[in-house]
Amino acid sequence: MTRPTLAALVLLGCGASSPPAASCSEELRGARAARCVGELAERVVVAAFGVYEDDALSDYVRSVGERVAAASDRPGVDYRFLILDSPDPQAWAVPDRRVFVTRGLLAVLDSEAELAAVLAHEIGHHSAGHLDHLADDLAAQDWGDPVGLTLAHSRDRERQADQLSVLFLHRAGYDVRAVSSMLRALHRSADEAQRGWARRHPPLSVRLARVERAIDRRGGGDLHAERYLRHVDGMIVGVGPRSGDARGENARASVTDEVCTASECPRRLRIRRLVAPASLAELEGCAMNEERALLAMINAAQADVRLAAGSIVKCIGH
Ligand SMILES: [Zn+2]
Repeated sequence: MTRPTLAALVLLGCGASSPPAASCSEELRGARAARCVGELAERVVVAAFGVYEDDALSDYVRSVGERVAAASDRPGVDYRFLILDSPDPQAWAVPDRRVFVTRGLLAVLDSEAELAAVLAHEIGHHSAGHLDHLADDLAAQDWGDPVGLTLAHSRDRERQADQLSVLFLHRAGYDVRAVSSMLRALHRSADEAQRGWARRHPPLSVRLARVERAIDRRGGGDLHAERYLRHVDGMIVGVGPRSGDARGENARASVTDEVCTASECPRRLRIRRLVAPASLAELEGCAMNEERALLAMINAAQADVRLAAGSIVKCIGH
């Protein structure tokens, strides 16, 4: 989703831990530049955040990504999809066919179609060649001096990636309305966390107006909400146990599920279906007090708003 991301990643890499010292050569061009920059970016990102290790969830994200990629304008291309162990809702397209999403992003989404919409946007950047020149430019950069790495996709390219996401989603058989609900979810999470996602993008109203015109022309398709929620059930949510979290100063240091007390255990998404009408605030054991803001954000519901029986709620538990 986000653009100046390589710069941000390098900066985070420097702040969170020592990033791997490496650089590409300015003499590299085209595919060789993309390969070098892609590998370097992945090492920096993994050093900064860590990979979220969950084979079943990783396989699922990859399978959704491959379904979207097969429906893109470059259907024969193999992508590399990685879940990063960060609570910040973010996604990136990185040179050499890499797409990264954070577990923080997975926590705010509500359906497989919304995940597909995120991946389709990033694949759209690849498919439209937005990363090609980026790789050439980055190959010439000194990665030891992240100050110089200020990168952003233009608003035109963002618009193109948004439009392509609707097209690819439709071709892949997903409900394209997920593009607008995904944009709203990410915008909400950016507001909540004040992490600047909204600042780095065209205004939500502009993006929504554009994609909704495209969506109106393409009906049908699947949401696969329950299938998605089954896969994220049990995923770590919020600040995790790894010191490599993006804001490592708040990490729950070295606490694992095996040796932790209730308050310090890694917090996990727990999917519940309401048997009777209730608000988030009324739900027994759905979250601890300090987690209420996160609970409201990932559920897109204020704590005191009554939800109907049968509603599915993402709780935060052990
Ligand atoms: Zn984008």
